[in-house]
Amino acid sequence: MKKETSAKKAWDHETPEQLRSRAAEIVRRLKKAYPHPQIALRFNNPLELLVATILSAQCTDERVNMVTETLFRKYRSARDYAGANPIEFEQEIKSTGFFRNKTKSVLGACKVIVENFGGKVPDSMDDLLTLPGVGRKTANVVLENGYGTASGIVVDTHVKRVAERLRLSEESDPDKIETGLMKLVPKRSWIDFGKQMICHGRRICHARRPKCGECVLNDICPSSTLALSPSSIQTAVRSTDRLRSGD
Ligand code: SF4
Repeated sequence: MKKETSAKKAWDHETPEQLRSRAAEIVRRLKKAYPHPQIALRFNNPLELLVATILSAQCTDERVNMVTETLFRKYRSARDYAGANPIEFEQEIKSTGFFRNKTKSVLGACKVIVENFGGKVPDSMDDLLTLPGVGRKTANVVLENGYGTASGIVVDTHVKRVAERLRLSEESDPDKIETGLMKLVPKRSWIDFGKQMICHGRRICHARRPKCGECVLNDICPSSTLALSPSSIQTAVRSTDRLRSGD
C-alpha cells in the first residue's frame, strides 16, 4: 500500500512537458485500440442527431434508439417538432427519463431553428449554443457527426471520468476539462479522441471497477490499480518522451 501511495505521488512531479508527451502517447494508443470509433446513436441528418443527443442525457443510447425509431417517422422537420403538442411529446419520449426538460429542450430548440435559422440546424458552435438546452457537449456531437467539423472535444460522463483518472485534467467542470484537452490533443484528433475516450470508459475504464489489468494505458495512468513503482512510472514517462522525440 505504501509502495502504491509513493508511486501515485510520483505523478505529482510530472512537468507540463511530460504531461504533453504522455497525452500524445495516450492519443496514439487509444487510436490503435479504437481505430474506427463511432457513436451509437442512430440518425440520418443533423436534426435527428440533435434530437437524439438531447434525449441521450442520463439515458442509454440503446433506449434512445428504440424511442427515436418511432419518433423520427412522425417528426420529419424542425417545424414538426416546433408545432408538436408538448403533453403528447412528453409521453412519446417518457422512457428516456427527464422527459419534461427534454421536451422543453427539443421543442424549444426547434422553435429557434425555425425562427432564426430557416429550419436548418446551425453548423457553428456559436449558433448552436443559442438553442435552448444545447450546451457544448451536444453542440460538439452535432458538429462532429452531423457536419464533420471539429470545434472542440465532446466531454460526457465517460470522458470526464477517464480524463480525471489519467490526470489529463485537474478540473471538474466539463467545459474547463474540454479546454484543457484541446490544448493537449492535436486538432486533427479531436473528433476521434472524444469517441475513443467514450469507448474506453464504456469497455475498460468503468466507473466502479476499472479493468486496469486489460487497459492499454495502465503503465502511463496515475490511477491504475496495478501497483506501479515510482521507477516504473519514470521509465514509462521517459519512454513516452523518447517516442515523441522520435528516438
Ligand atoms: S489504468 Fe485503470 S484507471 Fe487508468 S485508464 Fe486504464 S482502466 Fe482507467
